Amino acid sequence: MRPTRITAGLAGVPKKVDVVVIGLGVTGAGVALDAVSRGLSVLAVDAHDLAFGTSRFSSKLVHGGLRYLASGEVGIAHESAVERGILMETTAPHLTRPLPSIIPLSSGVSRPMGALAGAGLVGGDLLRRAAGTSADTLPRPRRLSAAEARRLAPPLRTDGLRGAHLGWDGQLEDDARLVTTIARTAADQGAHIRTRARVLAASGREVRLRDELSGASATVTTRTVVNAAGVWAGDLVDDVRLRPSRGTHLVLRADTLAGLDVAVFAPVPGETNRFVLVLPQPDGQFYVGLTDEPVDGPVPDVAEPTEVEIGFLLDVVAASFARPLRRADVVGAFAGLRPLLDGGPEDGDSTADLSRRHAVLTSRSGVVTIVGGKLTTYRRMAEDAVDAAVASAGLDAGPCVTATLPLAGAAPRTLLADRSATAADRGSARLIRRYGADADLALTAALTASGWSEADLLAPLADGIPTVWAELFFAMTHEGAVDVADLLDRRTRIGLVPADRALAVPAAERALAACMKTAGDR
Ligand SMILES: Cc1cc2nc3c(=O)[nH]c(=O)nc-3n(C[C@H](O)[C@H](O)[C@H](O)COP(=O)(O)OP(=O)(O)OC[C@H]3O[C@@H](n4cnc5c(N)ncnc54)[C@H](O)[C@@H]3O)c2cc1C
Repeated sequence: MRPTRITAGLAGVPKKVDVVVIGLGVTGAGVALDAVSRGLSVLAVDAHDLAFGTSRFSSKLVHGGLRYLASGEVGIAHESAVERGILMETTAPHLTRPLPSIIPLSSGVSRPMGALAGAGLVGGDLLRRAAGTSADTLPRPRRLSAAEARRLAPPLRTDGLRGAHLGWDGQLEDDARLVTTIARTAADQGAHIRTRARVLAASGREVRLRDELSGASATVTTRTVVNAAGVWAGDLVDDVRLRPSRGTHLVLRADTLAGLDVAVFAPVPGETNRFVLVLPQPDGQFYVGLTDEPVDGPVPDVAEPTEVEIGFLLDVVAASFARPLRRADVVGAFAGLRPLLDGGPEDGDSTADLSRRHAVLTSRSGVVTIVGGKLTTYRRMAEDAVDAAVASAGLDAGPCVTATLPLAGAAPRTLLADRSATAADRGSARLIRRYGADADLALTAALTASGWSEADLLAPLADGIPTVWAELFFAMTHEGAVDVADLLDRRTRIGLVPADRALAVPAAERALAACMKTAGDR
């Protein structure tokens, strides 16, 4: 088994590469994969860990661009729909799934607003068709009667329910899992991926790094630098200024809204065309989001939701369901930071919302900054950034190939569904869901790293926590995880519910110790 190239710290870091990538969120991981698959030598670093920043706090949707269509931004909408199709049908069918969602036509939704929502879904379907995505992947929208809506979403409040619109979009297995899989694919292609490696200073030719584990520093010579540091990108170049805004989600247990398998758009009272989304998740949870609050002052490492945001989301959603929702139903809450470009070179003195589109900015220092966009469009963002970096540094690189380059473990969705249906146990089926065609690789790696039995590795970590032990070992052998937080907060998402996290900490510590022991014995 080839050892992973995703490692922590700077030991053995190459002294000279073609491209240094700063940041290993979805954007930086995408840039690393794009550059290495064009034949360039790549070092990609993160000050903390893979998916440490905004990329793990999203709504986990693969958007088709409906929101942009509504505001007349047809180009961005089309780009989103194309990238959604690439992810769902070619590069990551194993990490994405079609998500049905309903817009209930309740008393809170006026007839004109309902008609607008229905027209929006039809427009979204036109985008799907224009992007060449099959209706087998994302079925056509349709109007539901009140009885059909109740059958599909039993917990809905039924008084005044006239019916619903049913539409389809893409959903990720998990956002951090997408980032980790992109990084692993880049590493498999030969990119050097380093966590706990902070960039202290960067020019277009040189990057000064600090090993966040040992404190040691290193200088790497490079031919170009791509800054993909998200909301922190402005710390590294003088001419890009960002002001973040916070988006908060709640986590509810599945039994809070028992029987609900579809996403629900809950209308925000008094506003046209603004909804709070209730999103079912694979591990028996719902996420409820989203807020949009400006963040003043220094950008925090991890944003914290406020009680006001939690109360707002709960109140809006509660109005759509028969069962009252209370503060005690909220078992977790998380927030991500979206970038606002503050008077950047492109925008003169204006402020631009980069959560809609992305920007590639080449600084006077020669550093190419890529910021904004979405998880959905990461591939296109990476292509644009590498094109700019290659052009400005005069590099000899091949064309972009990522639109047809499957991510590690990719396989047709139907094939994986068949494998999952015939899997010997729930643990094996779960590995297929999380790693696609690499499920066997994950189990084999876990067997070698732990010395445990297959049955033990396929067992859940604890009561009520479906993550199996093999996931922790694979995270260490192939995904660069080095501590409890990597395991619980980014390779798995147990950490989104603090009570579950507390329950899982001993398991993570045990897996870390077992992995170190077998490595020492070898
Ligand atoms: C609340 C919310 C919900 C969203 N939901 C969706 C959704 O459902 N679907 C969708 O498509 N998009 C969604 N988005 C958009 C998407 O999440 C972001 O566009 C994307 O995650 C940004 O990724 P990034 O890699 O640019 O930044 P980040 O993920 O923040 O990555 C930046 C990385 O840079 C590292 N870094 C910073 N400084 C340094 C340094 N000096 N040296 C080394 N490393 C450094 C950080 O540690 C971090 O890991 C959402 C955004 C928000 C805010």
